[in-house]
Amino acid sequence: MLLRHTTDKVAERSALTINPAKTCQPVGAMYAALGINKCLPHSHGSQGCCAYHRSSLTRHFKDPIMATTSSFTEGASVFGGQANILEAITNIFALYDPEIIAVHTTCLSETIGDDLNQIIKKAYQEGKIPKGKKVFYASTPSFKGSHVTGYSNMTTGMVQYFSENTGKPLKQINLIPSFIEPSDMAEIKRMTSEMGVKFVMFPDTSGVVNSPMDGKFHMYPKGGTTIEQIKSAGDSSFTLALGRVGAMSAAKLLDTKCKVPCEILDLPIGVRGTDNFLDNLRKVAGVHVPDSLMMERGQLVDVMTDMSQYTYNKTAALVGDPDILVSTAEFLVDLGIKILYVVSGTPAGPKFERRIKEIAGEDVKVKTGANADMFYFHQLIKGNKPDLIFGNTYAKYIARDEDIPLIRIGFPIYDRVGHQYMPIMGYKGGLRLLEKILSAVMDRQDRDAPEERYELVM
Ligand code: SF4
Repeated sequence: MLLRHTTDKVAERSALTINPAKTCQPVGAMYAALGINKCLPHSHGSQGCCAYHRSSLTRHFKDPIMATTSSFTEGASVFGGQANILEAITNIFALYDPEIIAVHTTCLSETIGDDLNQIIKKAYQEGKIPKGKKVFYASTPSFKGSHVTGYSNMTTGMVQYFSENTGKPLKQINLIPSFIEPSDMAEIKRMTSEMGVKFVMFPDTSGVVNSPMDGKFHMYPKGGTTIEQIKSAGDSSFTLALGRVGAMSAAKLLDTKCKVPCEILDLPIGVRGTDNFLDNLRKVAGVHVPDSLMMERGQLVDVMTDMSQYTYNKTAALVGDPDILVSTAEFLVDLGIKILYVVSGTPAGPKFERRIKEIAGEDVKVKTGANADMFYFHQLIKGNKPDLIFGNTYAKYIARDEDIPLIRIGFPIYDRVGHQYMPIMGYKGGLRLLEKILSAVMDRQDRDAPEERYELVM
């Protein structure tokens, strides 16, 4: 109801965020950590932070998300959290027996200035970390960045701590995805296998946060990249980073630390995004694109062509995570959809704006960072209503208020299922995304059609 008081008059704000179009860094760090096999994410902060991060991921994936916390109280806030985390490490290995603990910081521990490097070293020296087990950390202060930044920081931490160039090159490619669904990670792996390319993907949350129900509780589901695999990434011949904001930093570090060259690509959404991914894979691995993938491409193009009258000249407004927005925008342009607005709470920088304008034209309004919030997005929509909104669950209030269909993409999606299991990436995923778009357009057409134009066949 309150949203109805939103006006279309945009007032410039520099120090106020209203309904952020992002969530906090540790959420992304926790998600990335779950992409390591038998890893327990650990939140170095108060219980409330950890509860929020876990519940965000649990509500999105509809799976229990395991994580531990340093449980800060007043004492830790004043004297620092060293004692808390040292005790936590002992308890975690004794009670939950993970192979590895991935620590991320929070606003509070960052403000106190806890030196996690020194603390973890001390834990090793004092024998608190059992032989063969590991603890590492990523700095994720949530007073800047977003969940995508936190994901990127944790992924970069994996390279920093584990990847090694042993001097024995391996015939394998590294794939580093941005913050995407486990279903999309699985689809990228499937396509790479179809190409006959040996690879290491990290992080890989498929089979962890969308694991099957078999009647038993598994503290550590089977999925996730092993530490050995992350280590071996330093001996790979090439790295493809999929998504500039979420994956570039880890790929660049692999280049400087282990001399593994890299290419930064957009996520493989739609025809062009997937073409570009497969083409790069083909070139760096020296393989051919098999007929099976060409068939999937042809089917997607077929539906795009058959249904173009429903998508052509429609208008759209997009809000969410930058890497997903770039590739979705490109797919929408290929469908003849005009992009009006692109808003992301993640500070994605001028490169993001340039890329969006390259894809969607100079007229598109782009804004990122803390002030690029849901309130601002709503104001833009009030000024010129699009036919479709693309965004996460929080966009549903604007969609309802303005009576515009919402196609759910990105994170978080709390009010629908399917995203965990069915991809929107690759040609097959493109078909699913296209089906979602067409269903939204046709449902609206059916709802609004006068009786004499209510068609059986569309
Ligand atoms: S924004 Fe900071 S204080 Fe709030 S949940 Fe995230 S880490 Fe904790």
